[in-house]
Amino acid sequence: MQFWVYMLECADGSYYVGQTDCLERRVVQHHAGDVPGCYTFKRRPLALVWSQEFSSRVEALTSERRIKGWSRARKQALIAGDWKRLSELARGRTSGQAPSAGMDEPCEERGSTGSPRTGAGGRQVSDSVNDNEEHWMRHAFALADRAEREFDEIPVGAVLVSPEGQVLGEGWNRNILDHDPSAHAEIVAMREAGRVLGNHRLVGCTLYVTLEPCAMCAMALVHARVARVVYGASDPKTGACGSVFDLVADPRHNHRIEVIGGVLGDEAGRRLTNYFRAKRGRPLV
Ligand SMILES: [Zn+2]
Repeated sequence: MQFWVYMLECADGSYYVGQTDCLERRVVQHHAGDVPGCYTFKRRPLALVWSQEFSSRVEALTSERRIKGWSRARKQALIAGDWKRLSELARGRTSGQAPSAGMDEPCEERGSTGSPRTGAGGRQVSDSVNDNEEHWMRHAFALADRAEREFDEIPVGAVLVSPEGQVLGEGWNRNILDHDPSAHAEIVAMREAGRVLGNHRLVGCTLYVTLEPCAMCAMALVHARVARVVYGASDPKTGACGSVFDLVADPRHNHRIEVIGGVLGDEAGRRLTNYFRAKRGRPLV
C-alpha cells in the first residue's frame, strides 16, 4: 500500500499539508469541499503543488508532521525543488532567522483531515465541541467501512487524535487478516500512534471508536494514559467503558479516562446490526 504527503496551495495563498492513502481521491474531495470542517473549504480553488510517496503510513505521518511545522519560505523551497535553499533554511542561515514553526502561516491551519486546532494566536478556531466529536466519529466510520469492504472483518474503526487535533493512528479490526486476537481497531490505532510518537504513552490523546471498547482495549487505553475515549455504539455484552465493566474509570487504577459515549450512536449501532444481518441474509434496518 502506498501513502502520500501532499501540499495544496489555496486561493488565499496559504498552504495546506496533508497525508492520504489515495492522493487522487483526496484531492477530488478537497476540490469538492467534501473534507468535513477542513481548513481548505473556504479557500478554494486549490492547486496540488507538491506530493511525495511513502511505503508506510508511519513514514507519511512523520513527514507530514515535520512539514506542517516548517516556515512558508521552506515550504516554497520544497515546492520549487530548490534543495540548496532548503538546506540553508533548515540550518537557519537565511535572514538571521531560525525556520520556526509556521511563522508566516495563517493562524487557522488545521490537522491532516481537517480537524480544528488552536491557532498561532491561541484562538480556538473549532466549531462546537459536538461538531468536532461527530467529525472524528465519521472518520472512524470510514475506517470501519474499510474493514468490512476490503477485508470482510467486523466493521469497527478507531482513530487516535493528539491534543492538537492531529491524527496519530488509525485502525480497524484485523483479527482475521492478521491471525491476531488482539488486533482490535483500538489496539491497531494505538500501535501506530506509539510508533509515530516513539512513545508508548499517548498522553492527552483522544481515541474515537465506533463501538464501546472491550476489556482488553480499555486496559490498553489505561496503560497508554489516553485522556479521553469517545465511542459510538454501546456494547451491552462486553463493553468495558461503563456498559458491563467500567475499567477506564475504576479508582483503583492510577489513571482514569474521560468517557463520552453515544456519539452518532444510532448510526454506529445500525451499521453493526446491518453487517450481522447481511451475514445472515436478513433484511437491513
Ligand atoms: Zn477491543
